[in-house]
Amino acid sequence: MRIILLGVPGSGKGTQAESIKNKYPIAHISTGDILRNNVKNSTELGKQAKSYMDSGKLVPDEIIVAMIESRLNETDCKEGFILDGFPRTIPQAEALSTMLENLGIDLDAVIELAIEDDIVIDRLTTRRGCKSCGEIYNTTFKPTKVEGVCDKCNGEVIQRDDDKESVIRKRLSVFYEQTAPLIDYYRNKKLLVTVDANGGKDVVLKLLEKKRSASK
Ligand code: ADP
Ligand code: ZN
Repeated sequence: MRIILLGVPGSGKGTQAESIKNKYPIAHISTGDILRNNVKNSTELGKQAKSYMDSGKLVPDEIIVAMIESRLNETDCKEGFILDGFPRTIPQAEALSTMLENLGIDLDAVIELAIEDDIVIDRLTTRRGCKSCGEIYNTTFKPTKVEGVCDKCNGEVIQRDDDKESVIRKRLSVFYEQTAPLIDYYRNKKLLVTVDANGGKDVVLKLLEKKRSASK
């Protein structure tokens, strides 16, 4: 199974990917997570990416494409993969198409998670995450037992720098300008499926299972 999750920041791409991964042994490739890890470890890539990320802008295509190219060649991608946060521009989508052609593989579907901006802003301003294990919390729906402390590992729970309202608005406008054209791009390739991002954390998994049983 090889799929792309497409949706505005806060549409729940990471959450859906986790639910799929619990069922199918495929790689979850989140470009945001890879970049944040590089920033945390102060790698060369992290240094190049940080200022773009902090201001809510996209990291340049060349950097991202090179990063994905090496990631797709890792062995855990053989059984399939979920791309979460990539591609985000038409040139990235075109580069992906060339990479997949060279690997001799096809995409199964591009799933668009549809959601309204107001809901996203609510979700992201209340989102918190554990610095150590990555567990995601929400000050309204899923608070930690002790404020600022992870229930799972006692790590520090913080707000992402780019989850401040002004940066969220910037990320949304970047999405509409640079990423939204991918919706038509993949619709034209007959790969696009749209789901309601408010349908719960398993909406995409359920859709994939329905598709699978229909094609049997
Ligand atoms: P979200 O989808 O919630 O905005 P991500 O964690 O996917 O957040 O990405 C965080 C940041 O990482 C983005 O704002 C951007 O700066 C950078 N980034 C992630 N994926 C890409 C990509 N495919 N192309 C360019 N920049 C990216
Ligand atoms: Zn933790």
